[in-house]
Amino acid sequence: MVLVMLLLLLGVQLAGFGVVRQVFDRHVGIEVEASLQVAERIWVRQLLQNAARLRDAAVVLAADFGFRSAVATDDVETIGSALENAGNRIGAGVVAFLKPDFTLLSAAQVLGEEGVATLELLAQELSVNRNEGRLATVGGQPHLFVIVPVRAPLIVGWVLMGFPLDQNVVDDFWRLYGVHAVILAADAGQSLAITVGSWPGDRSAVLEAARQVEPPAAIDGKRVGLRKLHLESVAGEVGVVLIRPLDELLAPYEQLQWLLGLITLTAVALFAAVSKVAARRVTTPLYQLTEVTRSLEGGDYDVQVPGKDRGDEVGALARGFDRMRSSLAEQREEILRLAYWDRLTGLPNREQFRQTLKQRINDSSSGTEQVTLAVITLNVDRFKHVNDVLGYAFGDELLKAVAQRLRDQVTRSGDLVARLGGDEFALLLTRSDANGADFMAMRVRSAFEQPLALGDQTVDLSASMGVAGFPQDAQDADVLMSRCEIAMHAAKASTAGVLHYTPRLDSSSAQTLSLLSDLRSALQTGGLRLYLQPKLRVTTREVVAAEALVRWLHPKRGLVPPMEFIPFAEQTGFVRQLTLWMFEEAARQWHALQPVGGRLRIAINLSTRDLLDLDFPQRLVDIMARQRVQADGFCLEITESAIMDDPQRAEATLNRLAELGFKLSIDDFGTGYSSLAYLKRLPVQELKIDKSFVLGMIQDESDAKIVRSTIDLAHNLGLSVVAEGVESASHLDALNALHCDEAQGFFISRPIPVPEFLAWRDAWVAAH
Ligand code: C2E
Ligand code: CA
Ligand code: CA
Repeated sequence: MVLVMLLLLLGVQLAGFGVVRQVFDRHVGIEVEASLQVAERIWVRQLLQNAARLRDAAVVLAADFGFRSAVATDDVETIGSALENAGNRIGAGVVAFLKPDFTLLSAAQVLGEEGVATLELLAQELSVNRNEGRLATVGGQPHLFVIVPVRAPLIVGWVLMGFPLDQNVVDDFWRLYGVHAVILAADAGQSLAITVGSWPGDRSAVLEAARQVEPPAAIDGKRVGLRKLHLESVAGEVGVVLIRPLDELLAPYEQLQWLLGLITLTAVALFAAVSKVAARRVTTPLYQLTEVTRSLEGGDYDVQVPGKDRGDEVGALARGFDRMRSSLAEQREEILRLAYWDRLTGLPNREQFRQTLKQRINDSSSGTEQVTLAVITLNVDRFKHVNDVLGYAFGDELLKAVAQRLRDQVTRSGDLVARLGGDEFALLLTRSDANGADFMAMRVRSAFEQPLALGDQTVDLSASMGVAGFPQDAQDADVLMSRCEIAMHAAKASTAGVLHYTPRLDSSSAQTLSLLSDLRSALQTGGLRLYLQPKLRVTTREVVAAEALVRWLHPKRGLVPPMEFIPFAEQTGFVRQLTLWMFEEAARQWHALQPVGGRLRIAINLSTRDLLDLDFPQRLVDIMARQRVQADGFCLEITESAIMDDPQRAEATLNRLAELGFKLSIDDFGTGYSSLAYLKRLPVQELKIDKSFVLGMIQDESDAKIVRSTIDLAHNLGLSVVAEGVESASHLDALNALHCDEAQGFFISRPIPVPEFLAWRDAWVAAH
């Protein structure tokens, strides 16, 4: 901007210059022209004046008595000296006396033959018009000639006088009129040459200029006005060049030019200084504001915005910027809060957990020692049910309570609790291995033992947990988390409470995928086996039922325990085919398994998937028709959690199954937290107390209490009770004392293939 303004200013100044110069030039031109005209006139008049003076002198000579008597007496000598005297007196270059017939008698100067001829011719010419002077070049020198007659009284001769146009003439002219004159002359037939001139410089340049048609504006590099006069001459040629130097005319202009230049320079300098200051006042804060935007762009919201207290527009802009900056800072804080923190519980969210885990893994990989990490993911059991039944507000409170209990457990620095979303939480344990994770899982479980009381509602808390560790389970944070979640889902599905990740749990792992295809082919090629584990009537020790448990004889891996393939069979949905296969297998052998004079009910395990399948009851009906068996010959075992995944649909299926005549049993009872009040609504006839309580009931007083109260409660509700996990005679005795209806466990028999089962039963019956 400053540059443009400066250029503009310079432009205006130059235009001014141009105009001044033009005006001046015109003025000088007119002036010079006028002065040269004047000079020309003066020159001519001076010539005339000189002629008059000359003639006066000639008249005086012609009238002189002595001279006339000398003429009369033809005294050539006296005539000669008189001529010389007169010539000297008035400074004439040529003084001559001619006879009346114009032949030269005497001359003061020595003249050549040619000069004599010229003078005689001149005299003849001049005598015609005697009042005027005439110019003529004699001997290369221009002269002004006049002629007067000498009378006595008749004309007895002529006095001819020539006044040379010499240096004095031009010098006088210069002194008096300020115009240089340069005289050019040539004898007849010769070329013009300079004779005299007042021009101080190089005369040849003047000659050169005189030869040109258009007079030049400068000679010798000096500006001049120039005028050529061609003077009429009798013999030879005479010219004069008048030169008017322009120095003194141009002097004021040059002064003006300097002045203008000075003014321009000062103006430009001043303007530059002022506009630079002004521009700086505007651009400096703008530049600083630009710096601020760069900081903001880089995420630094703590920058100081300069110029906030200025009163001008820049100040207003700076204040606007500052407001924008603080609002951006607030927004970013809010965004960060939303991005990394869970609003409800105030815990870090999944993203923060993930990034922290990533960081720890990075630190560990780049550090000198590799730090082991353990991640526990935790899912609150039946949270959906609580939400549905007790309302979302209650659900929120429950999640907050869970968060608080988890926070209380995680006290080591470097460990982290986060809410991954919904009812899912995660714990990150640094420098911790599988044992450390188990220890933490145990602490969490015991922290959850205290039922949660909110208002007048009390609910039991429980959670399924998955454990995965770095570096053994995964090298990458995301993979580690997803594997941990897989373990958690498996734990939930199997009501195992806590499960460590193994590739077998992972339906997406290559191992699992091949396992799944193996399992599919096993189903078709007879790789699956139905094992039976007996259930006794506790009072009589009679074998009244048997639980069908699946076994997989893997061609390479041998006998695969169900816990290693049931969870992912459930995840993939394959479990539905498995259940149907088990049911069909049990139905096929049902008749053969019936004891003489008695009845053996076969229990089949159902999964969540079966309960959600609305066609499931019909499929069972088809199988029963095929195998000619009745529904009352079977018991269907359903876990609490299988029902709670989707209570409404489960309830519908259960009702349908009950209508068909199946006995329904709640498996693993006590591990979930479904209330008996709720279970009472379902068409079940039996509770199966989870083996964890039964196993612990001998040593652990509280386990014993749970078993006892469950039995009492079940009986009060009209349900029969089965205890699983009977591993000793004392278990059986204790259960008998508590009036438990049936018992199942290793003490009685492990699950065994059907032929062995038949043999075992015969032996058992014989022994009891
Ligand atoms: P579950 O339904 O609770 O089955 C009882 C499990 O407890 C069986 O393990 C059995 O071997 C074990 N058990 C029985 N008595 C004792 C005892 O005295 N002490 C101990 N420690 N354990 C005892 P198994 O056969 O390994 O089955 C594990 C789980 O696999 C089953 O738990 C069940 O959830 C699932 N499962 C097995 N077969 C099937 C099936 O055909 N269909 C479905 N859906 N699940 C099955
Ligand atoms: Ca079972
Ligand atoms: Ca069970």
